[in-house]
Amino acid sequence: MTGTGTLYLVGAGPGEPDLLTLRAARLIESAELIVHDGLIDPQVLALASPEAQLISVAKRRAHHTLPQDEINALLIRSACAGQDVVRLKGGDPLVFGRGGEEAEAARAAGVPVEIVPGISAANGAAAAAQIALTHRDASSIVTFVAGQCKGLSDQDWRGLAGKGRTLVIYMGVKTAPQIAEKLMEDGLAPDMPVAVIENAARPQMRVLRGLLAGLPELVERKQVISPALIVIGEVTAREDAAVAALAREDAR
Ligand code: SAH
Repeated sequence: MTGTGTLYLVGAGPGEPDLLTLRAARLIESAELIVHDGLIDPQVLALASPEAQLISVAKRRAHHTLPQDEINALLIRSACAGQDVVRLKGGDPLVFGRGGEEAEAARAAGVPVEIVPGISAANGAAAAAQIALTHRDASSIVTFVAGQCKGLSDQDWRGLAGKGRTLVIYMGVKTAPQIAEKLMEDGLAPDMPVAVIENAARPQMRVLRGLLAGLPELVERKQVISPALIVIGEVTAREDAAVAALAREDAR
């Protein structure tokens, strides 16, 4: 018995509480200390006990996100003081959530780590918008990439999008113009279908469809805000194709 608490890295899913895993819900309900991101839905946080201490490490107006090393230090300090810590992250903790870094820091400090998966935005968005990420007739490869400014031009996305492939871009709203340009420079057809899914799996979800060349204009005209995903590939147009086929039949 070391008296050290456990660090639980818990995925909160894309939004509403009924998309939590049962394990995540139980940990949130029984936690004494929850350290959470800004993307967590208030309904999920409402599952916590009134006695629980909730610490947000989110961006708040003028304030910046707590630097990662300070988050790591907070988690380790609390666990070493004997407290179990629920570190709650949007989606899945190991998909663009820096969960890997927190787990490494905790393990290095001798803090036991448990990881509870969550429904990542790509999976939540695909289900809510009824877009198959893979489809026997349209896509056998799916890739998740990060589209934020830092390092975008250094990333090699060649071959990740195109015929028979689905590319899901996280954090790409602000960089949509550079993303469209990058993909077309790599040889992707300007008329490749795309979808933008804003606030996926939440009541205020919007699903916008268009073509790659028109992506920047679509994002601007519809004033897309974060959190949103960009999905590139023929799978995003299948529903439209089916609806169009039905409409043609009706017109006959
Ligand atoms: N760990 C998270 C991703 C964190 S990165 C996960 O697995 O989902 C944050 C990015 O995730 C956002 O910029 C956005 O691109 C995406 N995202 C998170 N929640 C979303 C939602 N409800 N709808 C659309 N995109 C979402």
